[in-house]
Amino acid sequence: TDVSMETLVALCKRRGFIFQSSEIYGGFNGFFDYGPLGVELKKNIRDCWWNDMVRRRDDVVGIETSIIMHPKVWEASGHVAGFTDPLVDCKTSKQRYRADQLFFAAVIVDGATVGYVSALESENTAGELQAAAETLKRKKAIQGQLAAVVAKDMTEAAPDEIALIPSPATGEPGSLTAPRSFNMMFQTNVGAMTDASSVAYLRPETAQGMFVDFKNVVDTGRVKLPFGIAQIGKSFRNEITPRNFIFRSREFEQMEMEYFIHEDADWATCHQEWIAWCRDWLLSIGLPDSHLSLYTHPKEKLSFYSRGTVDIMFKYPFGVQELWGIAARGNYDLTQHANASGKPQEIFDEATKKKFVPHVIEPAVGTDRIFLAVLCAAYAEEDVKDDKGNVEKRTVLRLSPRIAPVKVAVLPLLKNKEALVGRAKELYTKLKRRYAAFYDEGGAIGRRYRRQDEIGTPWCVTIDFDTIEKDGSFTLRERDSMTQKRIQEADLFALLEEQVY
Ligand code: ATP
Repeated sequence: TDVSMETLVALCKRRGFIFQSSEIYGGFNGFFDYGPLGVELKKNIRDCWWNDMVRRRDDVVGIETSIIMHPKVWEASGHVAGFTDPLVDCKTSKQRYRADQLFFAAVIVDGATVGYVSALESENTAGELQAAAETLKRKKAIQGQLAAVVAKDMTEAAPDEIALIPSPATGEPGSLTAPRSFNMMFQTNVGAMTDASSVAYLRPETAQGMFVDFKNVVDTGRVKLPFGIAQIGKSFRNEITPRNFIFRSREFEQMEMEYFIHEDADWATCHQEWIAWCRDWLLSIGLPDSHLSLYTHPKEKLSFYSRGTVDIMFKYPFGVQELWGIAARGNYDLTQHANASGKPQEIFDEATKKKFVPHVIEPAVGTDRIFLAVLCAAYAEEDVKDDKGNVEKRTVLRLSPRIAPVKVAVLPLLKNKEALVGRAKELYTKLKRRYAAFYDEGGAIGRRYRRQDEIGTPWCVTIDFDTIEKDGSFTLRERDSMTQKRIQEADLFALLEEQVY
């Protein structure tokens, strides 16, 4: 099903998954807070990744490096000079846009562009842009063909072409400045002095931590090539136009891994293996294969050191967008740090008795982007019949048991029967030592099931009179099929053990 972003954002707020940051002060663009259920879901995504990537693999170790690093790190990595986006200003409205995120419909006469209609990515549909371009064409009484809507990177556009582009804010041509480079790193000052000598940056990626600590890990661990170093942590980018909810924010979490391989290793095969691993992992936490695709960056758009980058794309409500980038980076980063620090970043090869700088394959993903993908894919609205046969709407999050914020809800059939409540609380206490469980005794049982459906709880167990008077079994109600069956406590634990990992 295709859910609208409005619906998702409303559910996130209503049920306590995600709030705007600093909401009582009107919010703060590009920053978000995770509420009680959101923080559980996010932690589960992160824990699944850590368990599968680090603990369950023999060839990957984890680290946690500082968010603020020596400023020379970012000079050596190329971020101070090159971590920029092309920015255009609207001279009238003072709004700023990323030039490569503006969409244009060009009005072309005899092969020459005579006018543009522009809009921000995803705010107008291609059809609306096309219609606006038609209007422009009519207004100017221009004859000639109309170009298709294109997302055009204007970085290299000539000034007279830029002058033809109307600002998305005012609609007036000639109000956009030429694109200029805007560095996206947040700056701060470390220590009491606030001058050039104290400038430092909030990291825009976690990856550099793995490169800078490479030698420490090699010298202290039992790692042998090929091996990986992984890290989960916050990164910060001063995005010009944060948008699409938590998809593009200014503070976000990354889960990155640097997989070091021999300089003569078959990097292309290794790259393919990691792409497959990442895709399989996304399936394991419940993303549907139908929403995933691969995008191979064209050779001519790659940075000079990159040998190949493939993005795993997800079909979000606002379009197919990058979820997970898997890059073959050669030995660029380690070499840069070796040169800048004067400390060799090499490994000794027993076979050839030679030293060399390992090459690297880097899968880099944002936790928040996975979170959003998971919610988009899980959301469903269905017509169901209640006890009396009336049709009602149910909202359900079909989250994988691996990541669902609550795994099991324990419900006594009636709240005024001490024996039912006692047994339910006993089971709840036992369950919550191992699993995120929830106890709820308020309201009709059907209403309680619906509340759990809406937050994605895979199972509800109901304690009724048969439980205490007969064989101890209780009702297990399954979220997606809504089927109910009798189950013993030991079988419930076995089910959870199998499905929650
Ligand atoms: P984009 O082109 O969308 O800006 P990118 O190619 O710059 O992303 P990378 O530098 O490859 O992204 O970062 C690795 C991963 O970190 C991305 O695949 C994405 O999941 C996540 N990520 C990057 N920027 C943001 C952001 N502003 N908000 C949330 N997640 C982000």
